Amino acid sequence: MLTVGLTGGIGSGKSEVSRRLRELGAVIIDADAVAREVVEPGTPGLAAVAEKFGDGVLRADGTLDREGLGRIVFNDPAKLSALNAIVHPLVGERIGQMMAEVEHDSADAVVVYDVPLLVENNLQDGYDVVLVVAASAETQLRRLVEQRGMSREDAQARIAAQAPLSAKLAVADIVIDNDGELASLDARVREVWADLCARAGRTMAP
Ligand code: ATP
Repeated sequence: MLTVGLTGGIGSGKSEVSRRLRELGAVIIDADAVAREVVEPGTPGLAAVAEKFGDGVLRADGTLDREGLGRIVFNDPAKLSALNAIVHPLVGERIGQMMAEVEHDSADAVVVYDVPLLVENNLQDGYDVVLVVAASAETQLRRLVEQRGMSREDAQARIAAQAPLSAKLAVADIVIDNDGELASLDARVREVWADLCARAGRTMAP
């Protein structure tokens, strides 16, 4: 199994890249999606969160009120770490299970983790390959404003809050430039997939 940490700035094109890699045969693990799964109704995770923060964090239908919980932990480091102490181990455990299943099914799998803040959290050593999607700040800004409907100021602030592209490139094993058209991205992702398959000792499907 080859593990790949996929990262890049906000709006750089990580989702577009991971979708293409999934179509080519990679197993994609999205930590944000797993973090939602471990607190779905009926899970021990949700029970632990409700016990810690009160039933006020549950909606009438029994699901977690993420916005409400977000307001409680926002700007309160002690509460945020209490929440993380519940959720992070469950996410780690679930990802461990997923990895064991993948390894069992195919030893030469390419597993791609979508980790937006990989560099900010210094997680580069946890993966066999760090794959960085690179887009200039101008491109990021244009996408966030035109395609996500963000204000220019909000988009600029979010870009500035992340590590600069240079810091991401410094730890990259493979870089995908994504300042161009989606057609160029298709071609580059296919090249990268061939590289990842070779590193995983895997024969690509014809
Ligand atoms: P976030 O960090 O916010 O999750 P992301 O890195 O996953 O962002 P995407 O969602 O893949 O970024 O891309 C941001 C937006 O830009 C999307 O609307 C996407 O379709 C578009 N986009 C990405 N790459 C290109 C491209 N090469 N040409 C045109 N549009 C693109």
